[in-house]
Amino acid sequence: MTTTELTSDCSQCFGLCCVALPYIQSTDFAKDKAGGTPCHNLNDHFMCAIHSNLREEGYKGCTVYECFGAGQKVSQTIYKSVSWHEKSSEEMFEVFPIIQQLHEMLAYLDEALKREETKPIHTQLMEAFNKIDAYTYKDPESILTLDLTVIRSEISDYLSEAGELVAYAKANEHRIQRAAFEFMGAQLKGHNFQGAKLRGIFFIAADLRGANFTSAELLGADFRDADVCGADFTGSLFLTQAQMNAANGDKATTLPRHLQRPSHWI
Ligand code: SF4
Repeated sequence: MTTTELTSDCSQCFGLCCVALPYIQSTDFAKDKAGGTPCHNLNDHFMCAIHSNLREEGYKGCTVYECFGAGQKVSQTIYKSVSWHEKSSEEMFEVFPIIQQLHEMLAYLDEALKREETKPIHTQLMEAFNKIDAYTYKDPESILTLDLTVIRSEISDYLSEAGELVAYAKANEHRIQRAAFEFMGAQLKGHNFQGAKLRGIFFIAADLRGANFTSAELLGADFRDADVCGADFTGSLFLTQAQMNAANGDKATTLPRHLQRPSHWI
């Protein structure tokens, strides 16, 4: 049994994403910021002073970041409520992105475990989940020695198999043979991607109005500035809040139950 939460709770975090990570002035961020320095919009209570207005203020990039609960794990569990103001700040800023990546892997495994279609591999998924979860409770020195490439490759096959099982259950699996970037800016209105394996596909700025993504595997698919108005993502696998925050949808877009409609869609 795990106590790991896999969605962010900023009230339990030291504003780690707003301090540890760098950003560069661009269409996503209004200014430059070096990693390890607090964002000028972070207030004394580790909260963002412009949280409800990020897009309007030029900080769209912040709306598409998801720590998967790593912020509260690092703040409350690993550093036991002692913030970067007080000690170990450099170490904490190195530990945070490692925990963020481990929590992202846990979120995918957790989602796969919740699917009825993946029952044949639940034992393997559970073992992988428990192994990675245990890493996130280690001391900072041990966390800094973890090899994320190896850990990621260990779960990659299980996630692929989960995608196959979900697609197979729909008996409509089809693979995307084209290069990952070929859908950038493409006109795909009403396209049927049901049960497709779309891992890592770039849908940046594509017209996906009314497209059918039901039971599609979407791990790492890039929906930045894609128009997903009226698209159907019901039953899709490995779609994250950050992916949808980056897209433009509307009230007719159907999302998986674990995701919320981004505020800028309304
Ligand atoms: S703008 Fe707000 S959410 Fe973005 S880094 Fe700064 S404090 Fe954090």
